[in-house]
Amino acid sequence: MTNIECIKYNLSDIKHCISEAAKKAGTSENDIKMVAVTKYANLDQMNKLLDLGVTDLGENKVQTAVPKIEKLGDQVNWHFVGHLQSNKVKYLINYVDLIHSLDRKSLAKELDKRAKKDDIYVDALVQVNIAQDESKYGISPDQVTPFIDKTMNSYPNINIRGLMTMTPYYPDPEEIRPYYVKMTELFRKIKDEFEIDDFKYLSMGMSHDFPIAIEEGANLVRIGRAFFKSREEGN
Ligand SMILES: *Cc1c(COP(=O)(O)O)cnc(C)c1O
Repeated sequence: MTNIECIKYNLSDIKHCISEAAKKAGTSENDIKMVAVTKYANLDQMNKLLDLGVTDLGENKVQTAVPKIEKLGDQVNWHFVGHLQSNKVKYLINYVDLIHSLDRKSLAKELDKRAKKDDIYVDALVQVNIAQDESKYGISPDQVTPFIDKTMNSYPNINIRGLMTMTPYYPDPEEIRPYYVKMTELFRKIKDEFEIDDFKYLSMGMSHDFPIAIEEGANLVRIGRAFFKSREEGN
């Protein structure tokens, strides 16, 4: 099977896992948004995903995202999932539908400034460093409330649409589950505290742990590798 043909079968496996996990969580797959992270993919692979009905693609680097966005255009809902340097905001802000990585005040300031200049609103998720892992970006859990408060008051052209997290890697994804439980608690708390209408996304879970993330409350998963793996024997 060629690499491109595998995508169809991988997608079908992924959808099945999403549906099973959603059931366990007492919800439905229709309430789970799936972003295909295409940072490893070429345009042929990306077009294949679109042909198969995938609507949301995610990239993690501005310099590789922009040419892909220019080629595939607005048939796609674009997600930016990587660390975003403030000096690159201007290249991205008019193209992306959701930025998953709002992780500091200086970035909020730049996003707001550029959005005002272009007379647009920018949708963003607040990235939380739930494991307080020094190698990961994100706001520490106890600072999320003041950060959102500050952003809402000072940067009105940003719409905060939810929370996102990247967890540390554990070979056994079960070890990640407690972090996902904590994220869901934090998400509910923020929702109650702020009563923001559009605050609805909890973005967590990647290829090796998205079923666990969904079981614990994720409604937006970011899946890369699992789409593009080969299906030869032994895999
Ligand atoms: C690459 C990436 C993903 C997808 O990771 P996979 O392990 O390939 O599924 C998800 N989120 C972010 C922020 C990423 O950079």
